[in-house]
Amino acid sequence: MATCEVCGNDYWMTFEVRTVSGDVHTFDCFECAVHKLAPICEHCQIRIVGHGVEVSGRFFCCGHCARAVETEQGAEIRDAVGARPS
Ligand SMILES: [Zn+2]
Ligand SMILES: [Zn+2]
Repeated sequence: MATCEVCGNDYWMTFEVRTVSGDVHTFDCFECAVHKLAPICEHCQIRIVGHGVEVSGRFFCCGHCARAVETEQGAEIRDAVGARPS
């Protein structure tokens, strides 16, 4: 049994997330993990739950937001796109 560090819920199915810095966090659900760890888009301020993009060390939720702030390098960012049936 462990306690979620965000909401304090004592829950038998808590899980740990190890970040790139080596820190280990304990959560009772993905929502709490997102609340604590997900980066925030520097343009629209949503939490980035998917891949997102990184430009010059800044995080954005998508190519559009990256281009809105980082006009030069952001222009090189493409969202994931697949082949479209014709
Ligand atoms: Zn929680
Ligand atoms: Zn955004």
